[in-house]
Amino acid sequence: PLVLGIETSCDETGIGIVRGRTLLSNTIASSMDEHARYGGVVPEVAARAHLEALQPAIEAALAEAQVSLADVDAVAVTSGPGLAGALMVGVGAAKALAVSLDRPLYAVNHLVGHIAADILDAGAPPLEYPTVALLVSGGHTSLLLVRDLTTDVELLGETVDDAAGEAFDKVARLLRLPYPGGPEIDRAAATGDPTAIRFPRGLSRASDMAAHRYDFSFSGLKTAVARWTEQTRAAGQEVPVADVAASFREAVVDVLVTKALAACEAYGVPRLLLGGGVIANRRLRDVALERAGAAGVAVRIPPLSLCTDNGAMIAALASELIMSGRRPSTLAFGADSTLPVTEIQVAERTDA
Ligand code: ATP
Ligand code: MG
Ligand code: FE
Repeated sequence: PLVLGIETSCDETGIGIVRGRTLLSNTIASSMDEHARYGGVVPEVAARAHLEALQPAIEAALAEAQVSLADVDAVAVTSGPGLAGALMVGVGAAKALAVSLDRPLYAVNHLVGHIAADILDAGAPPLEYPTVALLVSGGHTSLLLVRDLTTDVELLGETVDDAAGEAFDKVARLLRLPYPGGPEIDRAAATGDPTAIRFPRGLSRASDMAAHRYDFSFSGLKTAVARWTEQTRAAGQEVPVADVAASFREAVVDVLVTKALAACEAYGVPRLLLGGGVIANRRLRDVALERAGAAGVAVRIPPLSLCTDNGAMIAALASELIMSGRRPSTLAFGADSTLPVTEIQVAERTDA
């Protein structure tokens, strides 16, 4: 099927078009620059930006895919989780489009969409099940056990406070680096010593994980960096930005990889899929590949353009649902900012 996917859960207006498992176009407009001076995504600003960006993004995606609206077999949209106001813009547009085109609508889960992105990676062999998935972005840090993309995704753990990308953004601010913090910290860390300062690794003691707990916590780490930089400045010394950045990054990467591989071992799953914008971090990819290799775990990393928020992954998930015979969603659904990952599709029609 030719599926048009709409993604507006955060600051990216993403329109993607897929045919079956083939990516035809992936248009992304981001309002990131508008949030820069606030040091984080401002929900109201993001929602307004989606409203302006949607129509041009749809036109651009159709042009790039060399198809017209009449060719679209189904419309897909992220119904959650995400920022409520931002989600509502995409949901409203998707309903209007589906009704006016008289095509089925699939309302799907954003996090499961991140997993579906892998399917569009043309170079890779098919995704095998079960697989552990680690999704790290500005809004999420989730460890999932995927037995089947369309029917069975289990939440093993998630952050209890800040998301990993959020921690990068907040620590960048402490180091007086611009937003978004991830790339800035990455750059600063390149010349730093990752062993210079031993920052805390939240919830990663053996006792935390023994009871099958794969939750993450990054606010203690952020506070530790804040205290360290404050004390250094109070003592009249200059903050060694490169060393702090490298040591902080090492702590985040260590926790993420340790927990993901612990889950692989505990569940006997020799496969790990990575996704989310923080995967742009070179050190995270390197450490994951290195330690997974040693543990006999195969790592999959989709191309970065499919790891950050995008509409193609939403179209890909709907395409899988259609190919596995699932019915479309009714129009009786809204934006659900806290949609659980177990709800892969919402409001599936029950009538014949
Ligand atoms: P969502 O959480 O809904 O997926 P988001 O917009 O917050 O949405 P992404 O766009 O996937 O997430 O990722 C953005 C986040 O990734 C930001 O927090 C940014 O700092 C972080 N990031 C980007 N590049 C890097 C990097 N090289 N290292 C670490 N973090 C990075
Ligand atoms: Mg984003
Ligand atoms: Fe996302």
